[in-house]
Amino acid sequence: MRKTIYALILGAIVLIGISIRNISNRETEVFENTWKEDYEDLIVKYGNTNEKLLALTFDDGPDEDFTPQILDILKKYNVKATFYVIGEKVQYNKKIIKRQYEEGHEIGNHTYTHINVSKNGYNKINKEIGDTQSVVKSITGVYPKTFRPPYRAISKDMCEIIKQKDMNIVLWSYVDARDWESPGVTSIVKSIEDGIQNGCIILLHDYNKVRSPKSQTIEALDIIIPDLLEKGYKFVTISELIEHLEKNTNDEKK
Ligand SMILES: [Zn+2]
Repeated sequence: MRKTIYALILGAIVLIGISIRNISNRETEVFENTWKEDYEDLIVKYGNTNEKLLALTFDDGPDEDFTPQILDILKKYNVKATFYVIGEKVQYNKKIIKRQYEEGHEIGNHTYTHINVSKNGYNKINKEIGDTQSVVKSITGVYPKTFRPPYRAISKDMCEIIKQKDMNIVLWSYVDARDWESPGVTSIVKSIEDGIQNGCIILLHDYNKVRSPKSQTIEALDIIIPDLLEKGYKFVTISELIEHLEKNTNDEKK
């Protein structure tokens, strides 16, 4: 009898514990949503949906083998793109950054060592972003204007730092071909061409763990770019895409 009473009490304690945890989880969620609203204006996920503009973006470079090949393809079709670079890699590939800048591409910040901002504090994030800003500026003479957080992670500290630096946070428009997993050239082409809409920010990578002479991303690009140009799309840098977004918003206000 006594054992049964103990078991019942223990069960009750466990149930109360679980409900308290659920309530506090819900509160955290509400809190998270509240602070995100304060920074909504900084976050860009797509461009103007009324114009046939697209932004090609490449993360995780510069890479001494893959990036120059991507630059060659962009040059071949006279297309501009944006590169979200890792500061640490910039140190060893200064010439590539110089070439990207001179050929009219935009260079964005992707942290110094590819950290997850939601797992790091203010000082660490500030250093990662600040060091990358400095190393890019030492080569091109200008600071990157936009930041893309690795793993699409968002944190309040990161948003605050980006706001202070007067930058934008650039994500992507859910057109994600997962090219870094090497899913096959046809799969990359299909994911992008099926998902494309006006104002899309396309995420690709100028880095791959598979060190083949030509990455699948590079092969796919040689198909995607001419296809989309033929469909009447124009490729612009992220800052240009944002400018068109602002123009659109201003027009609506008039
Ligand atoms: Zn990345």
